[in-house]
Formats: sequence, C-alpha cells, structure tokens
Amino acid sequence: MPEREYLSLYLHIPFCRSRCNYCDFNTYAGMESYLQDYVEALTKELRLASTMAAEAFVVRSIYFGGGTPTIIPADAFEKILSDVRKNYTLTDDVEITTEANPVCLPADYLARLKCCGINRLSMGMQSADETELKLLGRRHTLEDVAQSMENARQAGIAQINLDLMFGIPGQPLNAFQQSIEKALAFSPQHLSVYSLTVEEGTPLERMLREGSLPAIDEDASADMYDWVMETLPKRGFNQYEISNWAAGADFRCRHNMQYWHYRPYLGFGAGAHSYFNHQRWANVATIPGYLKKMEKSEKWQKGKPPASSEIIRLAPIDEIQEFMMMGLRLVDDGINEDEFLERFGKSLTEVYGKEINLLVEQELLERVNSAGQQVIRLTQRGRMLGNQVFMQFMQD
Ligand code: SF4
Repeated sequence: MPEREYLSLYLHIPFCRSRCNYCDFNTYAGMESYLQDYVEALTKELRLASTMAAEAFVVRSIYFGGGTPTIIPADAFEKILSDVRKNYTLTDDVEITTEANPVCLPADYLARLKCCGINRLSMGMQSADETELKLLGRRHTLEDVAQSMENARQAGIAQINLDLMFGIPGQPLNAFQQSIEKALAFSPQHLSVYSLTVEEGTPLERMLREGSLPAIDEDASADMYDWVMETLPKRGFNQYEISNWAAGADFRCRHNMQYWHYRPYLGFGAGAHSYFNHQRWANVATIPGYLKKMEKSEKWQKGKPPASSEIIRLAPIDEIQEFMMMGLRLVDDGINEDEFLERFGKSLTEVYGKEINLLVEQELLERVNSAGQQVIRLTQRGRMLGNQVFMQFMQD
C-alpha cells in the first residue's frame, strides 16, 4: 500500500457533434458555445476539490469521458492537465485516458495530447459493418478507425482500447465475428465488448417499438458473448472483467479497476459521479446548471461538494453491497476474502456465507485459491447471468 491512498479523477466532457441513436449518456449536441466556460468551470472544480483531497491522496489515473472529450481543443487538455499537476500529486506512472470518437483525430492533435500526458486512448469503434454503424447513428466509418489508429501510433500513444458492441438489431453472429476480427487486426492492447442496451426514450427504442427494426434476438446475443469469451483468450486477450479484455495485466484499465475495487474517485463536470469518504454524489446534470453552481462556488465545504445535486451518505452495509457488486465484475480477481475482512472488519462467510454456498451449488460462483489467497468469483455461466448473482448480495 502507498503511504497515501490512491485516488482516481474522472472529467466529464458532455458535448457531442450529434446524438447516436442508442445513447442516453449525459451529453448534449449543439452546445459547443459553452465549451470555453465549461473548461474554466471544470478546472475551478478540480482546484477546489484539491483543498480537501490532495494531501491524503495520490492520483494514479485520470479519465476524460463523455460525451466526446476530443471535441475540446488540445490547449484545453493542456490547461486542465497542467492545473491537475499543480494541485495534486500524481504517481510517476499515472494512467491518463481520453475517450475518442474516431471521426476526426488528426495526428498533430493526438501528438499534442500525448505531449501533455495522455497515454491511453479509448475509441468507440462499435462495429466494422457500415449498415450497423448507420443504424446506431455513428458518424464514423471503418476507414476512420483505421486512420485514427495509425495517427495514434504516430503520435506515440502506446495504449489503445476499442469499444465494440453485440446484440445490434438484425446482427448475425458472423457479422459480429468479423467486427472482432477487424478490431484485432488493428492490434489494440485492450477491448471492451458490450451488449447493446436499449434505453427508453432513445430513437433506437422508438424504432424497435414501431417495428422499423427487427427485435433483438437475445439467444443470438448470448451466443455472441459466449463466442467472444471463448475466442479472445485464444488470441492473447485475458478477460479480467465481464465486458473487458486486456493483452496482458499491464494493459488493464487502471481507472476502471479503481471503480471495480471500490476505491475512491472524484468526478468533475456536469452529471459526474463521485465516491469519496463514505459518500456518493452526482453533480447537477445540465451544462448551464453546472456552470451556474460553479460560478457561485469559492470553496469546497466539507460534506457538500459545490456542484452536487444529490449526496448519499453510505452506511457500512451499503458499502459492503456496493463492494460486492463491483468486485464480482472482476472475473479473474474476484472478491478476495482477506481484503473483505480487512476492509469491513467481518469475514465474507459471516456476512454472505449462505448466499455464496447457494450460488456455488448453482455453479454461478466458484471458490478458488489464487496466489495463496482465497477468492470467490463468477463462473463462465455466472458471467452470463451476472444480474441474478448480484441480486443475491443486495437483499437486506
Ligand atoms: S458519441 Fe458517445 S456520448 Fe456522444 S452521442 Fe454517441 S454514444 Fe453518446
């Protein structure tokens, strides 16, 4: 353990050029006129938070998410990261990721991001099939992904993740397999492969409801997930989380590992979430609302983050349940019994012995000895039925 605890910083950039058909993230199209003020507010929030967090913590990951963070100019990245360095202590090997839409990532822009510290790029490829990309409302093509990969390499960004989706309406298994093959041909270090979720109120949900798209075939989606779990390890990618694969332990996403290990993180910007000091909170979601809150704030009052709209004080049982929900996502590491005892002062068996025995009997969980440590983790069947497992740990 370091002398100071590790902390992760999440910076939300809620701007997009247009809205994808499936998207219900907190992001806005056509609001670029707020960009400059937004970057100012974000750096102010980072500075204020440092007054309560910088002494006790050392930052080991920073993540620009969105939205489309690469909508902001390179000098905004430079300003934000220079402010972070002035106000926080960073580990020497700090991971700094930005999400990126492959539609426009010129080499000189990426080179400037690399210069100011960005060392990981997470690109929303989603599919290699032009019809599927159109159906999803994505603005990029497969050629854009190829060009962006090339530009990122030229810029010297060594770690690249590609996001891919399965369960797209009308998507046959072989189209999904081809998308994965094309993604592998780009030689990324990390793949995030998600099942498409149909969110209420999105154009995709309307098209499915009105019948202008074929219904999603749940059995076909399960086959795709099964296939990807079988295939990627044979191609050198270790599944370390329900939806994430890395080409070696060094390429696991450190930022997301902080969430899954239920360690503290601070989120900045409109709608960003934080978990810190036994509290969870969410910032006000709209851009104008966030700017207004930050304009009026001159200090970080204890227990009352300046841009928050909702603060939840967590009881010990809340934290135990959230720890289980997050930790079980780590299909390799699982929940470490010693860590549980150290953190909560009770053994895992004392709190969840009955539930774990039942899930082991149902072959949804397994007990394993990993490097001398006792852990429980999902079985391959449990990965398919994750929600059923998680529910067992949410009961009173
Ligand atoms: S680019 Fe991402 S955040 Fe923006 S609309 Fe599309 S899915 Fe949503």
